[in-house]
Amino acid sequence: MRTHNIALLPGDGIGPEVIDAAMLVLEAAAARFDFALKTQRYDWSCQTYLDTGRMMPADGIERLQTHDCILLGAVGWPAKVADSVSLHGLLLPIRKQFDLYVNMRPHRLLAGVDGPLRAKDFDILCIRENTEGEYSGAGGRVHQGTKAEVAVETAIFTRHGVERILRYAFEKARQRSGRLASVSKSNAQKHSMVFWDEVAEEVAADFPDVRMTRYHVDALAARMVTHPETLDVVVASNLFGDILTDLGAAIQGGLGFAASANLNPAGGGPSMFEPVHGSAPDIAGRGLANPAASIWAGAMMLEHLGEVAAAEGVIAALEATTAAGQTVTPDCGGEASTWEMAEAVAQAIR
Ligand code: ATP
Ligand code: MG
Repeated sequence: MRTHNIALLPGDGIGPEVIDAAMLVLEAAAARFDFALKTQRYDWSCQTYLDTGRMMPADGIERLQTHDCILLGAVGWPAKVADSVSLHGLLLPIRKQFDLYVNMRPHRLLAGVDGPLRAKDFDILCIRENTEGEYSGAGGRVHQGTKAEVAVETAIFTRHGVERILRYAFEKARQRSGRLASVSKSNAQKHSMVFWDEVAEEVAADFPDVRMTRYHVDALAARMVTHPETLDVVVASNLFGDILTDLGAAIQGGLGFAASANLNPAGGGPSMFEPVHGSAPDIAGRGLANPAASIWAGAMMLEHLGEVAAAEGVIAALEATTAAGQTVTPDCGGEASTWEMAEAVAQAIR
């Protein structure tokens, strides 16, 4: 039997609850679609940091390297551990070491979910550059604390980085409707974004079957609200993608539904799948968290592993559950717990 070797990183807050919920569903999919999931759980979290001074052990990356994929819950406990510590101690090293340069997020309104927009029938796939650009960390401050203080943040765009994210987005567009929106701001940022547009045009020449439209990020943000149904694949830099995918989460019914894949399409290490939400300390431990985002992330993981039918089965079961509306969590108007909603999805698969 096909066996996939998964590292589970439940993390903090609602992370363990939503990971348990996702695994209940993924195990049901494995049984139904004839494959096996071999899981190893790593309880690396802010508690680990408080106990040991590290978010993960020194050989953490080596241990993760042995797995096909990583399924992550949420990391962060802002009241006790600075966000910068949890981010730099766990998530960023994983993204960097495994060169997870694609951050992919689907934005679609599941049946039965009532988003804030009038348009209900949209299906957007956002592809965000995940390793460079505006989040390169280059820059500094001079004359600190004086009236002459200056802070400089340098965005770094390499041909290697821009070209590979655009190529990935073109491939995705080719597999879907053949339409791609490339996002920049070349009217205002005359170096990096003009470069982005140039590379986009170059790559477009290799994909004559894909229709690329270039948008400025402000116009694209407006379009996501006014005409989301006109968009299919959207590709953007690190910062613009960050902002647009939070907007995408909002129009699909909130953080409870937003899922994310961190991919290295070239392979060589595990890709990582996670719900977009954080540890949500305000609702942790009470069974209130919506498991849809982590279940959806799990479906993306199955697709990445080649279990395409199972991935489609999981999404269909999730959507059957939201459409029925009987067994959903309070954020979508129901009274079910995290576990009860996951059990309903698992039952729909069985
Ligand atoms: P982080 O800094 O880790 O990103 P955050 O401060 O952005 O965390 P989140 O943990 O992402 O906060 O959650 C923001 C709010 O959204 C929470 O207070 C919670 O009420 C709600 N929320 C987040 N995830 C879910 C979920 N899965 N189900 C229901 N509500 C959620
Ligand atoms: Mg957040």
